[in-house]
Amino acid sequence: MKTIDHYAVFGSPIKHSKSPRIHNLFATQTNQTLDYVAHEVNAEQFITAVTDFFAQGGKGLNCTVPLKELAWLNASHRTERAESAKAVNTLILQADGLILGDNTDGVGLVTDLIVNNSVELKNKRILILGAGGATRGILAPLLNEKPACITVANRTVSKAIQLPLEFNHRFQGCSFDQLDGQNFDVILNATSASLSDELPPLPQNLLTENGVCYDLAYGNKPTAFVRWGQLQNASKSLDGLGMLVEQAAEAFLLWRGVRPKTREIIELLNAERPL
Ligand code: NDP
Repeated sequence: MKTIDHYAVFGSPIKHSKSPRIHNLFATQTNQTLDYVAHEVNAEQFITAVTDFFAQGGKGLNCTVPLKELAWLNASHRTERAESAKAVNTLILQADGLILGDNTDGVGLVTDLIVNNSVELKNKRILILGAGGATRGILAPLLNEKPACITVANRTVSKAIQLPLEFNHRFQGCSFDQLDGQNFDVILNATSASLSDELPPLPQNLLTENGVCYDLAYGNKPTAFVRWGQLQNASKSLDGLGMLVEQAAEAFLLWRGVRPKTREIIELLNAERPL
């Protein structure tokens, strides 16, 4: 009889997480015998919950809000991309019993932009709104694509100013006010404003003609930022559902050694959204 390998996502709130559905679809598609469930775990419960999960035979974990930094702190060792992000979204039990921490958010975003949506990043002027954990995770993979420049704008400007110091000044940080008079080919919303249907204060003419807008957040309806992009006549104004599936596929590859075909899963999840 085949034994079942156990995986889970920890976070809070976690009720609406699409990760169990995505990973179970991956398992069916790739003929893998596993289960993947969501557990409500807050920061105080994190260490006990992770210890118990692996002690009971768990093979791998995803960690989401507000646990990514804690996962980074508590992993036995970490990949280079997790180290530069200072955040871990995937924990992998290794053969030696140690827990490896990785961050698949950045590669998930870049794959969704370039492969799924044919958005060019090379030589483009990129603006990232927000300077939280998601921004930390996407910066190194975006820099690898050799854009013309990256600017990070944040409500708490000190965070946007601090971030370039950690990345050898390979981009600049500023306040939302300082965006006035500038324009960008690709604008990525990595604030959590969309989760409360809000929009960062953005000046007019921020997006170049044929520019692209991408909200890392996603929902059943277009987010406030996706709607803003449409009003700016963006050539594409996308949300983060594709990134969610792509970062999950990278985690699945790390755990199972096989990368699921993501296009059909993204199409299925898109079709399930109400019109
Ligand atoms: P954090 O809590 O670490 O950071 C939140 C950021 O949003 C901060 O920069 C904060 O600014 C800013 N912010 C919050 N509210 C507002 C507002 N009303 N106006 C302007 N700025 C605001 O969150 P994460 O970085 O982890 O996540 C950010 C977003 O990315 C979330 O929507 C999350 O769902 C999404 N995400 C999507 C993924 C996917 O797979 N699609 C993966 C990872 C994240 P300040 O510093 O001033 O507080």
